[in-house]
Amino acid sequence: MGVHDGAAGRVAVQNGGMRSMHGVAAAPGQVRGGWARIQRSPILTGGRIPPDEVAAERLRLGNAIAAAALDLEGIAERVAAEGHGEEAAIFAAQAAIALDPALVAMSEERIGRLDDAVTAIQAAAESFADQLRSLGDELLAARAADVTDVGHRIARHLAGRGMEPEPGLDRPAIVVADDLPPSVTATLPRERLLGICLEGSSATAHAAILARAYGIPAVVGVPGLLAALRSVDDARGAAGSSAAQGLVGELAIDGDTGEVVLDPDEATQARFDRGASLARRRHEVDIREAALPAVTSDGVEVTLLANIGTPDECGPAVELGARGVGLFRTEFLFLERASPPTEAEQLAAYRRVVEAFAPHPVTIRLLDVGGDKPIPYLPIPTEANPFLGVRALRLARTDPAVFITQLRACYRAALAGPVKVMAPMVADASDAALLLDLAAQTRRALAEDGLGAGEVALGVMLEIPSAILVGDTYFGQIAFASLGTNDLLQYALAVDRGNAALERYRDTFHPALLRLIHDAVLASSRAGIDLSVCGEMAGDPAAALALAGLGVRQLSMAASSLPLVRRAIRAVSAGDLDAAARVALDDSTAADARARFTALLPPAVDR
Ligand code: PEP
Ligand code: MG
Repeated sequence: MGVHDGAAGRVAVQNGGMRSMHGVAAAPGQVRGGWARIQRSPILTGGRIPPDEVAAERLRLGNAIAAAALDLEGIAERVAAEGHGEEAAIFAAQAAIALDPALVAMSEERIGRLDDAVTAIQAAAESFADQLRSLGDELLAARAADVTDVGHRIARHLAGRGMEPEPGLDRPAIVVADDLPPSVTATLPRERLLGICLEGSSATAHAAILARAYGIPAVVGVPGLLAALRSVDDARGAAGSSAAQGLVGELAIDGDTGEVVLDPDEATQARFDRGASLARRRHEVDIREAALPAVTSDGVEVTLLANIGTPDECGPAVELGARGVGLFRTEFLFLERASPPTEAEQLAAYRRVVEAFAPHPVTIRLLDVGGDKPIPYLPIPTEANPFLGVRALRLARTDPAVFITQLRACYRAALAGPVKVMAPMVADASDAALLLDLAAQTRRALAEDGLGAGEVALGVMLEIPSAILVGDTYFGQIAFASLGTNDLLQYALAVDRGNAALERYRDTFHPALLRLIHDAVLASSRAGIDLSVCGEMAGDPAAALALAGLGVRQLSMAASSLPLVRRAIRAVSAGDLDAAARVALDDSTAADARARFTALLPPAVDR
């Protein structure tokens, strides 16, 4: 690796040179400044070895793998010590990839065919990465970068360059690259890292996850980015001193919209600066308003909760006024590793969240994976229709141990504050009974082990229509239910969540979804249990009003949605929402229903 120094930001004087590009918004915020290109220097290889060196070459590979795994464990410890526990897990997972028997076997097999170890490991890692990319799952494709990163690290050790320092930034800059391996992202000096802009990668790749965790604006997947930067470099080279020519080497990126501007003119620079300072002011207002209750003008209160995917997200959610967690997705603990997380690891993660929110409750969702997200240590068969297959709680019938370990950690974390546990993919009363049975087994086992356990409220996600239709048959046995509107829409309308061609069905104001929610409200109130919504619908201000109108009193959303939803609720009367909801239930199109609630939104508040 080496840092290629782009030009530092200078006075923008060119009008014609400005170039706009567009990518995927990956971490919020606007920033402009000079750029630094980070590129891998290739590891040279001898290519072929004579047959009598096969054994020695395999030994060399084994040593390099061990050294790379040790490096990665060291980075994991350092990142954890800096307080980024979840990011540390990325490097622990990379250490596991380095030692993965399939990767080792593939490399050794290539050495057997007389490739040298450097060639063998890089080719094996690339083919492993290709397999991940070909599975058609965005999350797994994003992990391909980790495998390539690990292959490169092992190759560096083989080339005797294992001690090379990771690249640094000698001045504040926006880092640009094709893709940024997580190990590099984590080692860049945070105080000089203004932003990240990548030609490749996706919003779910680790570079983006790390950028979000560190609060650094990022745009990824920007086609043509590197060629455009190269042409600026070439122009500078041809012109001699860029300062003399008045050329700028500045990049402006908007991590909220995905806009990227190369050599922004003065007007664009001013626009980005205004955007950045407006965002700062808005954030200050959002924080000031965070203590206000989400209460309608006629006194009906809606409790706003946060959806989180890792404990690192607690800080922003608490700051923006979440009164608890309505959905803690726990998959992050289970993906990208060779064995399931231990009870102690899970307990540490859950306890961190519970302590951050106490005395407010934290709703931990049991593992929600299936055939679409293969997990090496879970025996999940390949299925023709994974979304309709053995996923989430359905796995517990054949593999209860994973869920019992998770429940043990939940019960133990409940000693630190209120915990609710909910099961995903519940279809009927017997699935709910399975949850209750697993919980009872867990409590007995903890008592036998002499371990303390707190009170846990048990509930289900309502994301399969049947679970609502037969709600009356089991709501009496559980403490709460939470509507997962993302999957509920998918299953109610037979619309694949990820299929862009079916966009026209994907409006949460669809009358079918509104009626299912209405039924869930009635059934939960007959049974006297709490009902919340934790699908994306709750974070859409107009839809949040509709949910309140339908009678939902707890809404859980991404932390960034809390301020607008709070403002929307405080600006209306529950009477108006109730009346609009009653009419909306008879609307024939989603557009009609949406219009009713959009009309009730307060005008954009000038903050
Ligand atoms: C849902 O389905 O609405 C939900 C909240 O769960 P997920 O998006 O994780 O499937
Ligand atoms: Mg779901």
